[in-house]
Amino acid sequence: MHNIEQLKALLSEPKKVVITTHPKPDADALGSSLALFLYLKKKNHVVHVIVPTDYPSFLNWMHEQKSVSVFDNQKSKSIIENADFVFCLDFSSLSRINDDGLGDMIAKSSAQKVLIDHHLEPENFATYELWDSSASSTAELIYDFICLMGEKSLIDVPIGECIYAGIMTDTGSFRFRSTTAKVHLAIAELLTIGVDNAKIHRLIYDNNSESKLRFLGYSLQEKLKVLHDFKVAYFTINSNELNRFNSQNGDTEGLVNYALSLQNIEMAVIMIEREGLVKLSFRSSGDFSVNSFARKHFSGGGHKNAAGGKSELNLKETENKFLEILQHYKQDLNN
Ligand code: 5GP
Ligand code: MN
Repeated sequence: MHNIEQLKALLSEPKKVVITTHPKPDADALGSSLALFLYLKKKNHVVHVIVPTDYPSFLNWMHEQKSVSVFDNQKSKSIIENADFVFCLDFSSLSRINDDGLGDMIAKSSAQKVLIDHHLEPENFATYELWDSSASSTAELIYDFICLMGEKSLIDVPIGECIYAGIMTDTGSFRFRSTTAKVHLAIAELLTIGVDNAKIHRLIYDNNSESKLRFLGYSLQEKLKVLHDFKVAYFTINSNELNRFNSQNGDTEGLVNYALSLQNIEMAVIMIEREGLVKLSFRSSGDFSVNSFARKHFSGGGHKNAAGGKSELNLKETENKFLEILQHYKQDLNN
């Protein structure tokens, strides 16, 4: 952030701050938002976290999670209009959060915008940007931000646990290439101040409902399709199946990674019929960019190896569209 000194000066007095993140916030999105919330509150700012949609209940342990509100056109309007700063975390374009008008409301607000993010191809809407697509997670960037502000000493256990959760989940538990020495050093600092790593792993990964595990079993047994010639594996999940397993928000998270764990697979996909749309998640392990694939064909984006998108066709039509498009990528996927 080249203009950090300017931001530091402005934030040296109490300000009205809104923090927002992407729809269906994951541990990185929510952990980053709450870590920043807790930090800015310590500095006596008036802070609101407003998220575009609800988030999975396995994140309810996060500190001050109860302070988070879901965007409501009426209730959120005056808070956003009167804010001095809007921090946008873990997404790179306002259109991503505009399904219910939050993006436009932020664009129109006179508040100064601060982007802290690690997604590819950011839109140029913020005055202050801490953007690094090679960062493991937005949570890592929140840690960097607090350090850049010269206030590492303000990172306490609650802030540290939120940051830890974001880094842990976005690095696939410290196994992706983005898990640099710098990440391990930051984690070491968090453990030194007393962050309980085993507790956070348990809270996030050993917190499955019985129906979620049975849904996983059903999906692997009945729904996984493997296209060996294309090095692709994918699932399609319809709304009846979600209902049958009483699938909760977040229950399908992680399913796509099982498909990617197959030998000789370059790309894994899950297509889920949800709220009148088909939501797609893409993962790759090598050079194949699912960011480009999702951006080009499914109005989405993300990172090179993890991206998402959507389709307004029905589930079967979306699957057929996907299979047609794949024909053009056979060579890329086999390289
Ligand atoms: P997931 O598949 O876990 O929902 O998302 C994988 C990555 O892609 C995340 O970094 C997420 O923020 C991003 N992503 C998911 N859906 C979309 C989308 O519809 N548009 C864009 N631009 N990014 C997405
Ligand atoms: Mn992230």
